[in-house]
Amino acid sequence: MVRACWNLDGGALCLMQGDITTARVDAVVNAANSSLAGGGGVDGAIHRAAGPQLLEACQKIVAARGTLPPGQAVTTPGFDMPARHVIHTVGPIWHGGDSGEPETLRSAWVESLREADAHDAVTVAFPAISTGVYGYPADQAAALALEIAAESLKATRVEKIYVYLHGETSWQTWLAEATKQFGEP
Ligand code: ADP
Repeated sequence: MVRACWNLDGGALCLMQGDITTARVDAVVNAANSSLAGGGGVDGAIHRAAGPQLLEACQKIVAARGTLPPGQAVTTPGFDMPARHVIHTVGPIWHGGDSGEPETLRSAWVESLREADAHDAVTVAFPAISTGVYGYPADQAAALALEIAAESLKATRVEKIYVYLHGETSWQTWLAEATKQFGEP
């Protein structure tokens, strides 16, 4: 597995090249949609790996409290995945950047890390939220997410944050942004 890690104040941050469903961590974050109904991309991969119980758990949540607004996060078990928890969050759909997209993306990362902390998750794996079908420019998403990840290592009991990157382009973009912010890995 190709990886690059930085030791930061309060813990470590690693970029990983690969499939997030294989992550051996306390919690995996899912880039879900508001209906928590599964779908394509990383959401579909997580539902396939966790098994049908994940969809049932998601449907119960939506029945009880309605759909999940962008920028919020909710936790289910990880079922058949190695991870104990799945933290479902909804990132913004990119509409050009003047519709609150950065605030919503920030909130999705912050609320996911807060959920992780609340469930005593010390190790957490994230995908590149919103940078697939939702169209958020990868370099801007990386810059913002890495800043929040570094802050939250200090502010929460989370000690290790892994960002799983699918594909070479995404890997290169995040590696460049992380090197800019934290120095050479
Ligand atoms: P969104 O709707 O939030 O944009 P997507 O699932 O379309 O979510 O894409 C988010 C990111 O997750 C993209 O960079 C995509 O390449 C990546 N991705 C897709 N499958 C996986 C996977 N199995 N593991 C990690 N990342 C993945």
